[in-house]
Amino acid sequence: MNKPNLIIRIHNYNKVSLGAILGACPPALLNNFTLVPWVSDSPIPVEAAQARALIVYSIMLPHLQQVAKELKQLHDAGSAAETIAGGSQATAAPNSVSELGFDYVVCGEAEDYFPQFLGDWLVNSARKGLHTTSRGKVDLNLYPGFSELVGYLPPLEISRGCKFGCMFCGVPRLHAGTLRHRSLTSIEAIVKEYFRIKPTRKRIKFLASNAFAYGSDGRQPNLAALKDLLEMLKRIGVPEIHLGSFPSEVRPDFVTPEVMQLVAPYLSNKTIVMGVQTGSDNMLKKMNRGHGREHSVRAIALLREFGFQPHIDFIVGNPDETEDDQFELIDFMDEMLEKYQVRIHMHTFVPLPATPWENKLQSPIHEKVKQRLRELERAGVLDGWWENHIGYFRTAKG
Ligand code: SF4
Repeated sequence: MNKPNLIIRIHNYNKVSLGAILGACPPALLNNFTLVPWVSDSPIPVEAAQARALIVYSIMLPHLQQVAKELKQLHDAGSAAETIAGGSQATAAPNSVSELGFDYVVCGEAEDYFPQFLGDWLVNSARKGLHTTSRGKVDLNLYPGFSELVGYLPPLEISRGCKFGCMFCGVPRLHAGTLRHRSLTSIEAIVKEYFRIKPTRKRIKFLASNAFAYGSDGRQPNLAALKDLLEMLKRIGVPEIHLGSFPSEVRPDFVTPEVMQLVAPYLSNKTIVMGVQTGSDNMLKKMNRGHGREHSVRAIALLREFGFQPHIDFIVGNPDETEDDQFELIDFMDEMLEKYQVRIHMHTFVPLPATPWENKLQSPIHEKVKQRLRELERAGVLDGWWENHIGYFRTAKG
């Protein structure tokens, strides 16, 4: 008898999440399927029209409409395949994904759930509809976080979750306020596997909400854990260790002299990405950032002192942001540019689902503030999609 088809809908944007769930499936389970990668713009695979097939999606907000169109094309082409969707959009706003017509939708971390689901699906006992997984429960050490099936070795996830509660951010709520770390044993095994798969590889990058919080309680750096991590990576011969650069940025209150003295000799990255968000203490309080302007200034100065290029995230147009707050932000950026030659990564506030500010609107951005941001962009010291996101959600919701 033919095996059922497991069609994996791969785009550049979902290789990390698909890799995580496929990597969580034991090979013996996947052997029950004919595995069919369906990559980017390639046509609908013929296997989708065959009797028993399951298409796996992982969706992010910007791709929702494209996925809706594709489901309609599948339907129009007479596809008999069942469909399952997970990913950040299904987690943050599950109804927006359910209403597209998927047979199964997974809200939440899916490493524990997906292998179980596949086993049930094989014997026709998978329950249709929305399934919500327990938040903050997945043990990172049980899973490799990648799969060769998607053809991508992602930045290695060393920590998941966050103990802070910034109003614009969904991470704490999505992970029930937990912060979980991958063990050194698990990290070492994955790094060795990366080098086995690609022996010419030099650079290892990491994924974490706050890279310098590795091994900590999430509130203060754990110097011993950071040292153990970096020593292990050096011992096993990682040629280039990149920590604190995208996608593992850091918080200003974790950039201390002790942390910098410890990490600097090990790191190959020249840039460290840090979330500072605003220059106004008033706005930092409203954002519930848990640090002040002075922390940011000290951290930026320290990054420079230790030879790193600070690349700083800022957000403008936050809820209840006053003109004074915005002018303070511009003054702060100008001061940091002059004193420390920072680079700026600029965002405009968007009310993301599953965040405390999900129902808030952008504050209008003062014309003079926009002008200054454009000048900095032209000067080559500011990047980011800030201007594209002005009014973004109001337009999207109609
Ligand atoms: S922005 Fe960073 S520090 Fe704040 S809640 Fe999100 S992950 Fe945590």
